[in-house]
Amino acid sequence: MARVHNFCAGPAALPEEVLKQASEELLDWQGSGLSIMEMSHRSAEIVSVVEKAESDFRELMNISDDYAVLFLQGGASTQFSAVPLNLLGDKTTADYVNTGQWSKKAIKEAKRYCDVNVVASSEGDNFTNIPAFDSWQLNKEAAYLHYTPNETIGGVEFFWTPEVDVPVVADMSSTILSRPIDVNQFGLIYAGAQKNIGPAGLTIVIVRKDLMGKAQSMTPTMLDYQTMADNDSMYNTPPTYSIYLAGLVFAWLKEKGGLAAMEKFNRAKAGRLYQYIDDSAFYANPVALDSRSLMNVPFTLADDSLDKTFLKEADAAGLLNLKGHRSVGGMRASIYNAVSDQALDDLISFMKNFEKNRA
Ligand SMILES: *Cc1c(COP(=O)(O)O)cnc(C)c1O
Repeated sequence: MARVHNFCAGPAALPEEVLKQASEELLDWQGSGLSIMEMSHRSAEIVSVVEKAESDFRELMNISDDYAVLFLQGGASTQFSAVPLNLLGDKTTADYVNTGQWSKKAIKEAKRYCDVNVVASSEGDNFTNIPAFDSWQLNKEAAYLHYTPNETIGGVEFFWTPEVDVPVVADMSSTILSRPIDVNQFGLIYAGAQKNIGPAGLTIVIVRKDLMGKAQSMTPTMLDYQTMADNDSMYNTPPTYSIYLAGLVFAWLKEKGGLAAMEKFNRAKAGRLYQYIDDSAFYANPVALDSRSLMNVPFTLADDSLDKTFLKEADAAGLLNLKGHRSVGGMRASIYNAVSDQALDDLISFMKNFEKNRA
């Protein structure tokens, strides 16, 4: 069996140790004679798996009892609706920051439910930077402020948290667990699992408890945070296997030293790749220096007629999924927690050789 290096933006690379353990336990989970996938979500086994996943996740992210942690389905995209439905309350407007394709999608969906005030946008600069906070046009009447701390497609990341008078809501799909954050600065955090958490099919929501319980009456039961919290995320059948696998990832992260260790590892990895790109006359990254993503690194070749050859040769070298998003073109290397130093080294030497052979 030959494992390749996977730079996919999502579903993304998972730690090999985790996949090995899951495969060893696939047919017979801890002597039960059953696969995790075959067990009732009401069984003691699954309840213990979910509880352990939640407590490890809380420990990793240092989440206090003021917050509920929900294991949901529907992906981050479903939260684009769930957030306004649950958090608007008596308000009719919400603030959104537009820093890329995912912000845009969140804004589009929110417009179904409220007046969206776009406080700032970097669209005029092709989403290559983050508008300075002192230029944001905040609205005092907003129910919340929504932003996307890491734009997965543009490779633009916030290294600061907006401080405003309304609850801050963050789509952390592609940055969660990559470094420590202070959860107390947020009203709500959500993330699809398939980048840094585990397999697709699971969405995690961290929500301050006092913000729940005021969903619009039209809110589908399945999207009501209070209902999900009251039922320990088991109002209906939860994605048991995805939660189990995410739990293995959380245990793996703890063993690796938690999020502080991840930050060190991720900064070093991204730093090496950006340094190489910046030093080269052949590759370029368009993002402002202070906002370059640690997780998603887009880059272009000096001659874009070579894009196809680059991808073909990368594939042949076992470096997969480097194609940039169709909206920006070029390449993108997603280097999440599970992407190893070895993968990064191999990518950089491949890029060096490719450049040398074309010069
Ligand atoms: C991947 C991604 C999404 C979409 O996630 P789904 O789970 O596919 O709905 C939304 N926001 C960000 C920042 C993402 O990276």
